[in-house]
Amino acid sequence: MNPMNDLDIIHSLKKYTHIAIAAHISPDGDAIGACVALALALVKMNKKPVILMDEYPEKYNFLPGRQYIYNTYPNHVPLELFVALDCGDLQRLGKYIDDFEKAPLSLNIDHHISNPHYGDFSYVDPEASSTCEIIYKIIKEAEVPIDDEIATSLYTGIAFDTGGFKHSSTTSFTHQIISDLIKYNIDFTDILDKLFYSRSLESAKLLGYALYKMETLNDKQLCICDLSTKEMEELGASANDTEGIISFMKNIDGVLVAVLLYEKNANEIKVSFRASGDKDVCRIAQFFQGGGHKKAAGCTLHTDLKDAKTKILDTVQKELFREKSN
Ligand code: 5GP
Ligand code: MN
Ligand code: MN
Repeated sequence: MNPMNDLDIIHSLKKYTHIAIAAHISPDGDAIGACVALALALVKMNKKPVILMDEYPEKYNFLPGRQYIYNTYPNHVPLELFVALDCGDLQRLGKYIDDFEKAPLSLNIDHHISNPHYGDFSYVDPEASSTCEIIYKIIKEAEVPIDDEIATSLYTGIAFDTGGFKHSSTTSFTHQIISDLIKYNIDFTDILDKLFYSRSLESAKLLGYALYKMETLNDKQLCICDLSTKEMEELGASANDTEGIISFMKNIDGVLVAVLLYEKNANEIKVSFRASGDKDVCRIAQFFQGGGHKKAAGCTLHTDLKDAKTKILDTVQKELFREKSN
């Protein structure tokens, strides 16, 4: 609950040895990059970090630090401090909620505006482009030397969350950090390709299918698409292949709000929102116990796809377009 500054964080990191680190479920580039960069920095501070992560998308196989990733916290190792990274609320820690709550000390380091400041101490900076940007500041202030591996991890997280340095969260400071990071031996062309451009054949087919299927409403300012497990399977694709589809929807001329719903499991519908201009989709996600940022947010609904779509559409139209769906 208590707010903390960077120096308090460094003080806690210096004080303890056995430190668990975890990010949100379905981890993305910022979540993984931040966990790995912090773990690598902690090793340089003679600490024993354990990253808890039970799913790891293949596209991040180029990142270092896999040796610190565990599915569960090792039984024989005492847990002194738990650091949650890039995790907008406690529920998003998934199976590590218990460890977080039982840890003698828990820190919540994040940049989501909707973060409710869970944990013993929190450091939430909604102005930061990414959690990796916060971790960069902490590493610099702790005077831990950055190396190629830390630079690769931080670059990945910042590049991912800024959509390749183009979202409005990108600041002069973001570019100063990047200017520092590319002094190290990092293959940024390859990283950007892996993050934003390369996709499997199945995922390319799913992208084509989704763009064909999507509908536009409200003077073509609202773009919505829903994908069932059956539709994804017919193309040989899965829920992981949906990444990036929503950017294409949002990039269509005139679209102010894009919504993608897909069936992650039976009665588990993941919803992604993107907005431009002054539309606030975080507020919509929060209606459904989700959250995120003003222009990029998400939530999960425990119902079927059709019902989820009706509920989401009603709320989006009522709240953002002041018009009821028919
Ligand atoms: P995406 O649509 O890419 O999954 O997520 C967009 C943003 O919203 C990310 O910053 C992500 O962390 C956040 N987000 C996505 N789903 C949820 C959710 O269920 N709860 C919260 N609190 N944030 C979410
Ligand atoms: Mn994230
Ligand atoms: Mn993030």
